[in-house]
Amino acid sequence: MCIVNYIIFWRNMSLHLYNTLTRELERFKPLKQEEVKVYYCGPTPYNYAHIGNLRNYLMDDIVVRTLRFLWYKVRTVMNVTDIDDKTIRESQKSGKTLQEFTEFYTEKFMTDCVQLSIFPADIIAPISTLIPDMGAIIDWLIAKWYAYLAEDGSIYYSVAKFKKYGQLAHLDMKWMISSVRINNDEYDKEQVADFALWKAYDSENDGENAWEIEVVIDWDKKIIKWRPGWHIECSACNIKFFGAQIDIHMGGCDLIFPHHQNEVAQTEAYTGKQFAQYWMHGGHLLVDNKKMSKSANNFYTLQDIFKKNSDISEVLIRRGFRLMALQNQYRENFNFTFERLGAAINTIKGLDEMIRRLGRYQTTLIGEDIDIEWLEDLRERNAKGRLKFHEISREFRDNQQSFIQEFIERLEDDFDTLGAMTIVFEYQTYINTSIDDALFSLEECKSIIDFLKTWNEVIAIFDFELLQNNEIIPKEMIALLAERNEAKLNKNYAVADRIRDTLDTMWYKIIDEKNGARIEKKK
Ligand code: AMP
Ligand code: ZN
Repeated sequence: MCIVNYIIFWRNMSLHLYNTLTRELERFKPLKQEEVKVYYCGPTPYNYAHIGNLRNYLMDDIVVRTLRFLWYKVRTVMNVTDIDDKTIRESQKSGKTLQEFTEFYTEKFMTDCVQLSIFPADIIAPISTLIPDMGAIIDWLIAKWYAYLAEDGSIYYSVAKFKKYGQLAHLDMKWMISSVRINNDEYDKEQVADFALWKAYDSENDGENAWEIEVVIDWDKKIIKWRPGWHIECSACNIKFFGAQIDIHMGGCDLIFPHHQNEVAQTEAYTGKQFAQYWMHGGHLLVDNKKMSKSANNFYTLQDIFKKNSDISEVLIRRGFRLMALQNQYRENFNFTFERLGAAINTIKGLDEMIRRLGRYQTTLIGEDIDIEWLEDLRERNAKGRLKFHEISREFRDNQQSFIQEFIERLEDDFDTLGAMTIVFEYQTYINTSIDDALFSLEECKSIIDFLKTWNEVIAIFDFELLQNNEIIPKEMIALLAERNEAKLNKNYAVADRIRDTLDTMWYKIIDEKNGARIEKKK
């Protein structure tokens, strides 16, 4: 069975995910097979994204990639909170218009995502493009008494009107209901309160930043200069691009309350239907097990991490960070330390070496012009072995099947990427030891590479360019290597070392392997 057929077959076996709404592991049943609707709350572009934010989007990316890998047709939407207290305040400090300011940081955020191989959402909507959509929902909520205009000039959502309020965040409303109103976007669980849908324009602080919506209040049509509260944007964004219902809604665990709880209250009051079927929340990123904060001097952006490790290539750092996210259960907190990053980078280097070896092995079997003795020897041994050159053995096929099965099983268990990575590492050991013993035929070697490419659709950490990285070594260098081997055989270590040094000055290094020594251009 080829990999694709296998995945389609296996997908029906069931994906389970932890649903914050029910606090249970549930079998995933999409609303419609043809289109799985996935939404995640986007960034607030008032500064560079920190590694906590990026960890969150890595989680979203891995979940979406896994769904696609399991052959679901997924459509994703993300908002960008370009209007809020922080973007307005910081843009004013910078002397730029809100639009210039937020576009700058949105672009920086998108660059970070590209650098971490995070796929952009299919639709990315700055909330400044959703003003009429927000207005229409608010107007309807006022008409149905879910919202009201208060004396302070803002429009509030009346939480007491929504019977299911508190269900997502698991709040005991019996004790918590209060008549307090909250205009501030972020507040504690203890403060269950009517929250602002649309904030009164504050000429002192808002400056140019005011938008108009049309609402009917007390049978009067009114067009007023105001600006949105935080939560209404995501309701509007979902309704505009997906309609009343979606399959999966994601975000960091800090968003469960009040933000996601309030999204539910707004959207469900408006549509009368259950909004998201599954809510997924990622744990928090900590640094050295402490909350990341500027005052604690442990606050990092991706650029800060590059600067702190200027002796390591940025590409390796990015891939190392992505691997760290894969090796962390998404619901758990993610403890970032520079030691753990260093270990992840070493693991990446090991995976790179495996890809290089596969490239060399394949090139040798194909018989291209790489004139290195051990490769010749490898070709000969493989040709003489029990395998025909183009054959795929039954044992090999069974092995492949059990690796893919285990990999999928781990992912289907609530996106257990930590478990899936242990399968990848077992596969790495299998490849390395089998190459040492020249066990793979050419077709098997090709199948391994295809297999790794399929896994990479989810994990996105392999660098397949390294397959081609088998540069032709000049004849003089090969002659020097032969001389050095001869010297070693004769226990003439001083000469052997001198030749190694000569090669070193010519920018080549000798690598001793089980199959003999080979040379490689230094990077
Ligand atoms: P913001 O830009 O503040 O709106 O946050 C964007 C996303 O990053 C949200 O989903 C937050 O839950 C998430 N987030 C913020 N801080 C952290 C953190 N330290 N660890 C993980 N996720 C975070
Ligand atoms: Zn949201």
